[in-house]
Parts: sequence; structure tokens; C-alpha cells
Amino acid sequence: MIVCKFGGTSVGTADRLKELARLVNSDEDKIVVLSAMAGTTNALVEIAELLYDKQNDKAISSIQALEQNYYRVVEELYTVSEVKEKAKEMVESHFNYIQAFTEDLFTIHEEKAVLAQGELLSTALFHYYLEELGVPSILISALDFMRIDKDGEPDSYYIKENLSRELKQKKSNEIVITQGFICRNTFGEIDNLKRGGSDYSASLIGVAVAAEEVQIWTDIDGIHNNDPRYVEGTQSIAYLSYDEAAELAYFGAKILHPASIQPSKKAKIPVRLKNTMEPQDEGTLIGLEIKGAGIKSIAAKDSITVIKIKSGRMLLAHGFMRKIFEIFEVYKTSIDMVTTSEVAVSITIDDAQYLDEIVEELEKLGNVEVDKQMSIICIVGNFIDESRGHALEIFSALKEVPIRMISYGGSRHNVSILVETNYKKQALNILNENLFCNV
Ligand code: ADP
Ligand code: ASP
Ligand code: MG
Repeated sequence: MIVCKFGGTSVGTADRLKELARLVNSDEDKIVVLSAMAGTTNALVEIAELLYDKQNDKAISSIQALEQNYYRVVEELYTVSEVKEKAKEMVESHFNYIQAFTEDLFTIHEEKAVLAQGELLSTALFHYYLEELGVPSILISALDFMRIDKDGEPDSYYIKENLSRELKQKKSNEIVITQGFICRNTFGEIDNLKRGGSDYSASLIGVAVAAEEVQIWTDIDGIHNNDPRYVEGTQSIAYLSYDEAAELAYFGAKILHPASIQPSKKAKIPVRLKNTMEPQDEGTLIGLEIKGAGIKSIAAKDSITVIKIKSGRMLLAHGFMRKIFEIFEVYKTSIDMVTTSEVAVSITIDDAQYLDEIVEELEKLGNVEVDKQMSIICIVGNFIDESRGHALEIFSALKEVPIRMISYGGSRHNVSILVETNYKKQALNILNENLFCNV
């Protein structure tokens, strides 16, 4: 069994859905995991914001505009009139459901239910299309097997048990289709795996069925050596280890959801990234083995907040760091970088939801300074050759860029540097020139 996930652009138009049908129509046993059509989740987020703000008239017109896009897709995708009718009814029922929230109280639960409609729509459209073509397929709902626990972590046991029950309906020649991103929480409410979460769904499904391979199909030929949104001339990397890929995903390479590598790594399932537009391209393979040495890729993670705690008394006395870390633990806020000096500790976080509460607690331990709009530049590779460091080439490249924090040696795969987000593009480009173009 293989699990193949197709992202927003891969299902973004009627033509792409037609192409997708050709791509998945093979004898291989597979589960196809789909994202919402490109732009839909963003549109649903905007609709949810309008509903929160009680701007119901604006919300209704946005809902109607999005609904019309789907009728256009229906017109272009199907040829058989009964299938068109059935698809139109399906689209209408999803949008009636969304529209109903304009009359009720709108909270985070309703928001999640609204966001889930994107993946429910794309999978149903694709399922009808395969039916029209006569390609045997079965649609199973992720809401019947994908679940997170009270800490927001995937409930692997539940997922495995319930997915295997759902898969019992499958006939041997059928392609299984399901939604990425969406799940239920521990109360049975509709929830999700956070933005970009379909990659995570695919990895979790891969583990649950002990897949031979998890494939992430997207709009680029695998993981590149720098962020193509900010740097020109980036290149695809043929192979990365799980740890290298996980560092890149965690530190901002948008191509993979930050947590998506962990489940596959634990179960030792190879992950392959492929380009839907150019399926013959090799893409990137991610596996257990660590191959090659040196710097391989650079990524950047935005919206980082740095918190500096200055304390005259006993900063580095034993037990002090524990007190600091406990405060972050209480507020379930994970820390990305830490640096210490005799008089201060600096810590970065990317989730600032409980920033005020954290600062209030930290002020009991010392003076606290907070700076927002920072970015972590993460340089990833295999720094195994201990006779040769990489600090000089990295820092001499960055001599024009003010660096706020440095983390070197935390692992053999990562050097992290904190800069103001204003300097991010410059830093990515200079590093690209100096680390990849002069060799
Ligand atoms: P999907 O909708 O298929 O999940 P995403 O937009 O989430 O696609 O991810 C693919 C995009 O990630 C690419 O189009 C590219 O702009 C961006 N990206 C950022 N960093 C990298 C990188 N290091 N390698 C490849 N793509 C990257
Ligand atoms: N549709 C969701 C999003 O846009 C999940 C995904 O695309 O992976 O975030
Ligand atoms: Mg994505």
C-alpha cells in the first residue's frame, strides 16, 4: 500500500483534477489524501473572520462567490449530466451548511467546521469524477478515523483501529480517497491538524496502514536547497535523511508541515516528494540513512518572538533555568532557541498565544524584554566531519546582517540564526550565494 497526498495546487482546477485521475489510475494499492482546492482554505478563513466580526452581509457574499467557483468546476469537470446534477447538489449542501453559521453564534468550533468544508468538497468532487470515468474508488471520511487527543497530538491507536475498520469496506481494486487536514478532537468535534496539515495526515495514515511509501505530491520538484519564494535559482535535493528533512520542515520550509516527518521517521517509512506538474522529475526521497556531508539546505521561520530575561541575582544558579522552562511548560508553549550569558537568558517562541501570561510570570524572576517580528534562519545538513566546522563560512557570509541569536551544535544537522524579519530575504540570498554558488 502507498499513501499519496496531493496539495492545493494539485487539485486546484478541473484540469488538475483530470490530470490527477490519470496519475492515480494504476494497479498499485493506494490511499489518496487530498487537500482543499488551492485558495479555498484561505477563503474559508476569511469567511470565518467575517462571521466572528458579525459582518454577516460580507460573509454571505464571500460564501456565494466561493460557491460559484465550485459550480464552474462542476461544469468543467464532468460530462455526464446526472453526475453534474449530483455534484451540484453536493456543493450546494456544503455551502448551505456554511451559510447556516451566519445565523448562529460563531466560535472556534464553528470555525473549524467551516474550514473542514474545503477538503470535504475536493474529495467528493474527485470521487464523483473517478466514478464518471469508471475507475473503482471508495471515499472514506477522515472524520471517521483521524483524531487528536486532549493535548492536540494525534491519537495513533484510535487512528489505526478506526482506519482499518473503514478500510474493510474497500474492494481489492479500489482506490481509497480521503481528506487531509481534518480530524476530530477528543470531544468528537470537528478539528484540524493546523494549516498545511494534509502532509501530516498522509504521514499518520502511512503509519496506520504500514505503507511502503508516503508520497507528497505538490507544485515543485521536491525540497529545494533554499526557499524558492525568496531566492532565485534554488535546486532540488535528491535525498535527505529524516532528521535533515524534519529540521527543514520545522524551521519553515513550507513544502512540508512542521510535524509531518516525525510519524514516518518513527515507523521508518520512506517519504517521497514529487511534482504533480512534472511527474517524471525525480523529486526528493527522505529516508533513514544519512548520506553526504556539509550544508544542504536553508529555510526560514517567521513570526518568531524573542523573550530576554535579565536577572542580577543567580541567573545561572542551579534550578533557575528549570523555573524559566516550567513557565513555558505550564502555557504549553514550545521553545525553539535558547542562549544564555552570565546575566541574561534569551528564548524564542513561535506561538505567542500566551505571551502576556508568560511575561507576567517571568517578571517575577527578572527584567523581561520582548521583541517580535523575528525570523529564524535554519541551515541544515550533515555536519559530521568534526575536523571541519561550518561557522566561518556561515558567519562571514552574514557579515552585513545583524544577528540576534545563534544556536550551533544543538544537533549535527542544524545551525540556527535569529534575525529581524526585515533581514530575512537578504540573509537567505547571501547564504545562497556564499554556500551554494561559490563551490
Ligand atoms: P501544497 O499545497 O501542495 O501542500 P505548499 O504550498 O504547502 O504546497 O508547498 C509547496 C511550496 O513550498 C512551493 O511551491 C514553494 O514555494 C514552497 N517552499 C518553501 N520552501 C521550500 C523548499 N525548501 N523547497 C521546496 N519548496 C519550498
Ligand atoms: N487545506 C489546508 C490548508 O490550506 C491543509 C493543506 O493544504 O495541507 O492549510
Ligand atoms: Mg502544504
